[in-house]
Amino acid sequence: MYFCTEQKTTTIMRTKIVAGNWKMNLDVTASIELAESISKEITSLKTENTRIVVAPTAINLYPVTTHADLDNRVEIAAQNMHQATNGAFTGEISAEMIKNVGVQTVILGHSERRTYFNETDKALAEKVTTALKNELDVIFCFGEVLEERQSNNHFKVVESQLQNALFHLEEKDWKTIVLAYEPVWAIGTGETASPEQAQEMHAFIRTVIEKKFGKTTAQQISILYGGSVKPSNAKEIFSQPDVDGGLIGGAALNAVDFVALIKAIQ
Ligand code: PEP
Repeated sequence: MYFCTEQKTTTIMRTKIVAGNWKMNLDVTASIELAESISKEITSLKTENTRIVVAPTAINLYPVTTHADLDNRVEIAAQNMHQATNGAFTGEISAEMIKNVGVQTVILGHSERRTYFNETDKALAEKVTTALKNELDVIFCFGEVLEERQSNNHFKVVESQLQNALFHLEEKDWKTIVLAYEPVWAIGTGETASPEQAQEMHAFIRTVIEKKFGKTTAQQISILYGGSVKPSNAKEIFSQPDVDGGLIGGAALNAVDFVALIKAIQ
C-alpha cells in the first residue's frame, strides 16, 4: 500500500504540547532514527496529558509515517503547505498530499516562511482556511521582530498578525488550532524571552482571542512559546500559567534534549 488512509481526528482542547520543528535538517535515515529515539525514550514516561509532535522536512514525512516504529503518542506534522488545492505551484505541497501520507498537523506562519519566502498574513489566512477545510490541525506561528519589541510595538504587531490571519474563522474552527508565539529575536539566537515576557504576551493573546471569539475559546486554546527553549530554561517557561508548551527548533534535533523538554512539562 502506498498511501496511508487511516488517520486520526484530534479534537484540540487546551493541552500541553511539545512540538519539534526539524526545519531543513536530517536526511531520511536520520529522520527515522530521531523519531524512533524519541519514541523509545518516552516509553517509560507518563505523557497522557501531553501531545508530542515532530515535524520532519516534507520529503521525509512519508518515510517517517510509514517506516518509523513509533509509539502512537508521537505525532508527525508538516512544516508548511500551499493554500491552493492543487495546480501549477512548482515545489509546493498541498493539504491533501499531507493528509494522504498520514499526517494530521501542519505548522503555518513560521517566521522563516514569513521572512525568507515572503509569506503574508493574507496568504496565511488562506492557508489556514485550506488546512481546516481539509481537516488538518494547525500550529499557527507569529511573533514580533526585535525592533518591534524595542519600540514597544510588540503587542500591536501580535494582535494584528492574529487579526489578519485568523479573525475570519468561526468559533468552532479553534478546536483544531494551536497558537505558537515565537518572538523572532529569540528564534535560533540563543536569546530567550524571559518567563515573565512569555507569560505577559500569552495572557495578552488570550485577551485578543477573547474579544473576538469569547472566553471559552480563549481559555481552551493551547498557546506554545517558541524561541531558544532548551532543557536548562524549559521548566521555568513551561510553568507559566498561560504557556501550554513549546515549539522547539534547535533542541528538537537531539532526542535526549527533546525528551528533557517533554519531561520538563510534566
Ligand atoms: C523555531 O524555529 O520555531 C524555534 C523556536 O527555534 P529555536 O528553538 O532553535 O529557537
